[in-house]
This record gives sequence, structure tokens and C-alpha cells, in this order.
Amino acid sequence: MTSESDALRAPLTALSGVGPALAEKLERLGLYEIEDLLFLLPLRYEDRTQLVRLGALTTGTRSLVSGEVLLAETVYRGRRSLLVRIGDGSGQLTLRFFYFSRAQAAQFKAGVRISCFGEVRRGPAGLEMIHPEYRLLRSGEDPVRSDALTPYYPATEGVQQGRLRNLTDQALRRLERQAPEELLPEDILSDMALPGLADAIRYLHRPPGDADVSELGKGTHPCQQRLAFEELLAHYLSLRRVRVAARTDAAIPFEGGDDAIAAFIEALPFTLTGAQTRVVNEILGDLAVPHPMMRLIQGDVGSGKTVVAAIACLKALANDVQAAVMAPTELLAEQHYRSFSDWLTPLGVQPAWLSGSQRAQARRDALGAIRSGNAGLVVGTHALFQEGVEFRRLGLVVIDEQHRFGVDQRLALRNKGAADGGYPHQLVMTATPIPRTLAMAAYADLDTSVIDELPPGREPVGTIAVPESRRDEVVERVRRACADGQQAYWVCPLIEESETLDHEAAEARYERLTEALPEVRVGLVHGRMKTAEKERGMRAFKDGRIQLLVATTVIEVGVDVPNASLMIIENAERMGLSQLHQLRGRVGRGEQKSHCVLLYRSPLGRLAKERLAVLRDTNDGFLVAQRDLELRGPGDLMGTRQTGLPEYRVANLVRDAFLMPKVQIAAETLLRSEPERANAIVRRWLSQAGLYTRV
Ligand code: ADP
Ligand code: MG
Repeated sequence: MTSESDALRAPLTALSGVGPALAEKLERLGLYEIEDLLFLLPLRYEDRTQLVRLGALTTGTRSLVSGEVLLAETVYRGRRSLLVRIGDGSGQLTLRFFYFSRAQAAQFKAGVRISCFGEVRRGPAGLEMIHPEYRLLRSGEDPVRSDALTPYYPATEGVQQGRLRNLTDQALRRLERQAPEELLPEDILSDMALPGLADAIRYLHRPPGDADVSELGKGTHPCQQRLAFEELLAHYLSLRRVRVAARTDAAIPFEGGDDAIAAFIEALPFTLTGAQTRVVNEILGDLAVPHPMMRLIQGDVGSGKTVVAAIACLKALANDVQAAVMAPTELLAEQHYRSFSDWLTPLGVQPAWLSGSQRAQARRDALGAIRSGNAGLVVGTHALFQEGVEFRRLGLVVIDEQHRFGVDQRLALRNKGAADGGYPHQLVMTATPIPRTLAMAAYADLDTSVIDELPPGREPVGTIAVPESRRDEVVERVRRACADGQQAYWVCPLIEESETLDHEAAEARYERLTEALPEVRVGLVHGRMKTAEKERGMRAFKDGRIQLLVATTVIEVGVDVPNASLMIIENAERMGLSQLHQLRGRVGRGEQKSHCVLLYRSPLGRLAKERLAVLRDTNDGFLVAQRDLELRGPGDLMGTRQTGLPEYRVANLVRDAFLMPKVQIAAETLLRSEPERANAIVRRWLSQAGLYTRV
């Protein structure tokens, strides 16, 4: 490394004004080296480059103006306030202050010239600024205009904006001496018409006066996209490297077992859908190869993923290796245990059961059978991969509801399963349909299969939106359904994602409903309960001992209660569409027509109306996810959080997902022809975070 490039790789204390105390604060912001400052981008900008004439002001903009004080008065209409009228010959503007000292008020003598900066709004007497920043001008003094837009950096505990501007100034001066290495190949930059790295960084820290502030505010400026692209590429590359490495890792190829599978499919009480058959074939193809399968099955709720997993397990068993099936909750794991037992016991396979809450003796027995290989198939929770569990010859791992686990957890699991014979084949399943471009980012280490067809005869869940003012009618509807022998869910509002308020709201609703429906057996489940307590409640509902289950959004994904045919979701307008769709998938699993009532608080904005209409109009999870992405503004990442994706520094997946196809192409090219450069990109963006950097 040359000493020149050390200019940027030096610790922050090399900058003037940075002592150990400040360095420590900056470290808490993830800033260690001078180069890190260059990647700390402003959140927004203000334009103080132009002096706007008062006659040309428009509301809603933040502007720099100057003028002469015409009048200043303290008024007591409702609230004490100081009004200062200024004029510049072209027009007038009122400055309004609610908090001010007597000395301050005395400054604004008629005839004094001032400059101020603030948001222009329409007030009772023409245009006004509330609490603008202002400066008195000496005679002959001009207002100070900046050469560049003023950047505002992310809120930083105890580090002032002025300080951050000073530090980035220093970092930018070093950048002039030695730019950070350009890692994106020339042809990608020119193909996408993206600026070079140094240009983009310089521009984003100090945009020139003519820069498009609104484009910058939206994060769609080419310079921002340039950095977002490189960051998405870094994450994608790191996952692809795992995938590529797996192609040379060893795994046991499964050759035999076709007859057993054919017999199994023949004996099923239903015919596989075309989509299920296609995915089964994709899986069997992977399993025949001496390298580990890493495949994701995406399929909407109820599309029949479990039986596909069972076929994969059968294939493993026929090849004399063990298969492990893992689910995120005990209840779900138990449900799989039952399905697998029903399907496979006739073929002489009895699955073993392993869970955290199991009694000591049962656990010892299970562990012994797993170690000896007597247990060919094991179903359980993540207890399956805890200390003390030894497989004799693990050949296949199935992970259900993958989105409950983060990307790094998935990778850790894969390594845990590794043994002498190499890696086990891995099949992961998820019912959270995310748009294709997001899936590219979330699952780049996996090959993807999609079950895009529901078994025949499924009636879509009838969905309606009802204002809260008609809550009583909805309660009546629940009463009738329960009297009819059906069961219902009542899902409680998500309040600011605060678990506390969340469970309090559920408890309050539970009490009200218990009162309103004395003849109905009502149960309650929320995230603050102990796991065992929660599962007891769910089981009582499944067994029919509870008719109406009041719950927060924690109600387990994947749980199958066919007799539940009605779901009420409160404050639906606040939830993500995909989440609503996922919740709605808990009903519509049995014979009778099912319904979902979305209760909302009026009035509903146009966008909120449109969003709820999406759910009313379609039962297709992928379409819901796609529309969700389109309708949601940038900044709301609820949907991506569910995929277990990491936080990004610059990129915003909802906003930048459209870059993914290009990211994918660039990544494949780099991995093939310039692996060293690919490594450097991953290092630049991911090394600090310590994210999945295994190769
Ligand atoms: P999910 O994909 O949500 O995990 P499941 O695997 O739980 O869905 O399947 C939902 C229900 O549909 C189960 O009761 C299952 O036995 C049934 N099922 C699966 N495949 C078919 C099919 N091809 N035809 C009819 N029913 C099916
Ligand atoms: Mg399932």
C-alpha cells in the first residue's frame, strides 16, 4: 500500500480537531478510518446558494432571503408571538417567532437589514417563515451565500453538523490528493451512465448550487445510485461467493429411490399440482449431484410446500443418509412431525422428534437414535442444531419458513451441518413472497424454485375493509360464526412496533370481546407470553377448545387450523400488505368459504385505500408483494426486514431494487474474470460489519 493511499486509510485521529473522545463517538457511528467519512452521506441538503427575491418565493421551499425590517410587533392572539415584517422592494415576508427574548425583539428595528433562511409557508397575512435562522447585516454587508448545497448528515449523538462538515471537508481534501480506489469496471460505469466513485462522493458531500435538491432528497440522483449499486453489488458478491464455493464442496449424491418416490406420490390422497411436480424434479436433479444443493422454495401460503419437502426426505432416506427438518416454532415443528409420520409410517419410516422443551429421557433417546443412525428422519425446532446433537450421516437439511432466520443464521447452519462426507444438501422454504428483484438480493446464495399454483378447489379468502365505526357489526359476525361451529382470529393493532403497547392492546381487546361475547370461548396469545404459554393457547385453538383467538401479529406463521374461517385484523391500514396477506393465509384452509375483515381507522388516505384494495382484489401473494413495493414510498423497509436482510449504509432496497438485475450481471462477470476486484468490493462495504464474509 502506498503512503498516498494511507491518506484515507489513516485513523480519524489523524484529522485535525479529532481527539480520543471524539474518535470514540465517531466509532459508535461506525466510523473508524478517514475513508469511512466519505461513505457517510448526507441525509438531506439545503440550498443557501441563491438569494431569493421576496416577490419570487414559493411555499414549501426552504430559501435564503434578505430584506429590510418594516415593522416588528409582539402580539397576543392566542399565543404570544413576535411578528417581523420585512421587504425588499419586490415583495414582503413575515417572520414569526414564538420563543424570543426581549433583547431579541429589540434587535428588529425598522430599517435594519437582515438575511434569513427557513421554510416558506402561507400564513394568515401572506407568506411567512416560522423561526427562521437569521442574521443582522451591517451596512454594506451582503448576505452570505454558499457555493455548494448545505449537507445535513445523519443525526449523530453529540457530534454537531458543523463538526461533521468540517471533518468531511478534511476528508474531501485528502480525496483530492488520493482518491479511493475505483472498483467498478469501466464498462459497467459507462453502460449504466454512472459517475466514477470520487466524483460521486465529492458531489454528494458538496453538491453544486445548481444540483437538483428534490432528486437528491429522493435518493435517485445518479451519484447516489452509483454508491447504492456498489453496495448492493458487495452484498450480492459475498452471497454468491458462498454459492460458488458450494459448487466445489463435496456432498453425497443421491442416486437410488425413484421407485419409492413414485409409490409415495401414487399413494397420496391428492394429485401433485404441476408446480409441485416441477419443483420436485428440480430438487431431485440437485440431489443427484456430488455437491450440496442450496435451494429455496418460494410458495404462497397453502401452496403445498411440505409434501415437496417430504419427497426430498424420502430420497435421502432411500440413499441411506439422515434427513433433518427444522421449523421455527414448536407448534409448527409438531405439525410437520404429524404430517411426516402420516405420510411415511406406511413406508416403514418413523420420524424422530427433537425439541427444546422435551423431557430429559425422551431427549436422550432421540439423541441416541440420531447418533446411531437408527433415526433416519428427525423433525424439530432449532434444537436440532444445538450442542450435543450428533448425526451419524446427515445428508439433507430442510428449513421451513426461512424468513424467520437471517441470512447469516442460514450460513451458520450450513456450516454446522458439515461433516467428513462434506456438506448436507440444503432445502429452505418460505411463504413470504417477495418481488423478484428483492429475492435476488436476499437469496443470492440459493437457487430458487417457485410453487406458483395452489391445489385445485381452494376458494380465495373473501376480503373486505370496514371502518372501525362499524366494529359492533363485526363482533356480531364473530358471534354468528362461532355459533355456527366455526372459529375466528382477532388480530390486534400494531402500534409503532412497540411490543409493550402491542400486548396491552391485545389484552384490552381480549377483555372487551370476552364481555361482549359471553357465550364464546375466547383465548389470548401475544409476544410477551412465555413460549410454552403461547403454544398452549395456540394448541387449545387448534383443538377447538377455544373458538375465538385474540392475538398480536405474533400468531405463528404456517399454523394450520382448517376450522378457522374468519379473521379480523385491526388497524390494517398500518400494516404492510405482505404481512396482511401472510396473516390472512391462516384462514381459507378448510372446506368452508373463509373471510378476512380489515378494520381501519377513518379517514383513510388515498394511498391507504389503494393498498387495502390490493388485498381485496387479489389472493396472489407475489402480486401483493409487487404492488406493495410499488405503492410504498422509499424509506419504509418493513417488507425487507422480514427477509432477514442486513442494514445497508447507502442503498435502500425498496428504492433501489430495480438495480438488482444489473447487479447480478456485474457480479457474475466479476466473479468469473476479476475475483480479486470482487473481493476488494466486498471488503470495502462489508468487512467492518463482519457480515457473512466466509469463502
Ligand atoms: P404451505 O405451502 O403453506 O406449507 P402445506 O404444505 O401446509 O402448505 O399444504 C397445505 C395443505 O394442502 C395441506 O393440508 C396439504 O396436505 C394440502 N395439499 C398439498 N398439496 C396438495 C395438492 N396437490 N392437492 C390438494 N391438497 C394439497
Ligand atoms: Mg408450511
